[in-house]
This record gives sequence, structure tokens and C-alpha cells, in this order.
Amino acid sequence: MTQILSSIAIKKKITKELKLECRFLLENGIEPYLKVILVGSNPASLVYTASKKKFCEKIGAKCDIIALNEQIDQNTFLDIIAKINLDTNVHGCIIQLPLPKHLSHLDIGKLVNEDKDVDGFHPNNLYALFSNHEMEKHFTSCTPKGIVTLLVENNIEIANKRVAIIGRSMIVGKPLACLLTNLNATVTLCHSKTLNLREITKEVDIIISAVGIAHLIDETFISHKKNQIVVDVGMNTDTQGQLCGDVNFERVKDHVLAITPVPGGVGPMTIISLAQNLLQASKKKVSL
Ligand code: NAP
Repeated sequence: MTQILSSIAIKKKITKELKLECRFLLENGIEPYLKVILVGSNPASLVYTASKKKFCEKIGAKCDIIALNEQIDQNTFLDIIAKINLDTNVHGCIIQLPLPKHLSHLDIGKLVNEDKDVDGFHPNNLYALFSNHEMEKHFTSCTPKGIVTLLVENNIEIANKRVAIIGRSMIVGKPLACLLTNLNATVTLCHSKTLNLREITKEVDIIISAVGIAHLIDETFISHKKNQIVVDVGMNTDTQGQLCGDVNFERVKDHVLAITPVPGGVGPMTIISLAQNLLQASKKKVSL
């Protein structure tokens, strides 16, 4: 039978651990504090930022959403981030993407200080990932980290596996390719210009889709051997306006060994990773 890689039980288990860690920090005078910068009112961003705040508060951390007007001018926007960078009470800061057009040219990875960059976008955090050096002292991008946690918690081997990642974005595909390579997987990073994509996906042990096209991946991408694991990162809306992944779950599920659902798969793991990174940032302030 196909294994459904749900994140519900994992989330429950890790939430318990995070609550304990948070309590430890509070007892040592540190209240983990995240600031989320939200510009405008993109409906998906409103949902994502609210979920992040809710989860931080659930584990006992503090989280403020700094909701800024869509028309905010660049200097005011940069001043707000600069103040957060200087605020010693704040341990983590993320800028919710996408930003409005007039701010989208900014080099987002460099705006939040390296030690508060719980999204793992700062060049120094990316360098640690790229070089596989002192990773524990840096922050790993949340979605890639969450995918690895999901695989590990389900006892899915990564080392020596062949992985096809579809999608080469800075927030998912590229850092994930690095992270899995560091863990000794052999990774093929695919994208919209990849030729014969199905030939690649049919050959690998693990297929990870991060494209953003509803139901793109169907059984024609899957090997006949029923020996593959499919991870669906996509968060799209279907023709009925319902949340769905990149993978056509119904058409793929009987052809694979294991598959993540949407919702209840990768999405919650991203928020868990964010909370883990926030506590990692906060722990640096404890002098024990
Ligand atoms: P993105 O920046 O738009 O990148 C999409 C990638 O998919 C690009 O590399 C693009 O190739 C590739 N692509 C597009 N069409 C393709 C096709 N037909 N065949 C193969 N590759 C194709 O997307 P993203 O920000 O990484 O997000 C991807 C999806 O993951 C979205 O649904 C997003 O909502 C979701 N997401 C979920 C989470 C989570 O927590 N679950 C977190 C982040 C993102 P090119 O580079 O050649 O254009």
C-alpha cells in the first residue's frame, strides 16, 4: 500500500519539543521574538503570515506582523528593517514575499542581518549551505529544511538516493538541491527548459516538485516499478479554488511507494522549520 507522508503527527511531535525549548528560553530570560514584514494585502501572504504568527504563539514565542501599506516608499521600508536589525529584543525577522513591484528589485537576502535571517536567505547563510560548513551556526531555508525533516522522520534514506527536483527557485529548488547533495543524495535540478523531463523523473528514487502549476505531475512522470517517493511542494489553487499541489495526487498515488498530500504535507513543515530557526536564533542569546 502507498505510504501517505502526512506531516500531522510529525508536527505534533516537534511542536512538543519546541514548546519545551521555548519554555527553557523563557526561564532564562529570553522571549523568542519574530517580526514578519508584510507589504500590501496579497491574500496568500495574509494567510501564510497569520499561520506563522499562530504557530509561534502556540509554542510560546512572540510574533508581530508588521503590516505595511502597499505604496510604502523604499526608504521608509528600509528604515523599518534597519530598526529591527538593531532591536536586541528581536531574534528573527522575515520579509513575506512577494513584495510589490516598486520594491521587488531590492536584494532581499541582504536586508535582514545574518543572525536574524531565520528564512536563510542571507548570503552568509547560503554560503554555509553551499560549502556545507558550520551549518549548525547558520540558518537553512525553511522549506528545504522542512522537506528533509519530513523524509528523515519517515525513515526515508537520503544518502545514495537519486533525486529529481523540479523547480530551481532561490527559496526551494536551489537550496534544496544543495541540502540534499550535502546529505549525499545525487540530485538533478530540473526547470522549465529541461528537455525530456519525464525521462529524468522516471529514473530517480525521489521526485520533488516545486513548480507552482496545479496537477502538472501525473502518472506519465512516474516509473512503472512503483518504487518512487513523491514530495509535492506546490501550493496552488485548482479550478474550484481549492488548495492543491503540483502533483495530481489521485492519478499518481497508486503508482508510487510514498507521496506527500496537499494540504498536510510540506506546508506545515515549512512553518516548523521557521520556528526551529527562530529558537536557534534566540538560543544564541543565552549565556549558559
Ligand atoms: P517559482 O519561483 O515560480 O519557480 C518555479 C520553478 O518551476 C522555476 O524554476 C521554473 O523554471 C519551474 N517550472 C515552471 N514551469 C515548469 C514546467 N512546466 N516544467 C518544469 N519546471 C517548470 O516558484 P517557487 O517560489 O519555488 O514555488 C513553487 C511552488 O511551491 C508554488 O506552488 C509555491 O506556492 C510552492 N511553495 C510552497 C511552500 C511550502 O511551504 N509548501 C514554500 C514555497 C513555495 P524556470 O526557472 O526555468 O522558470
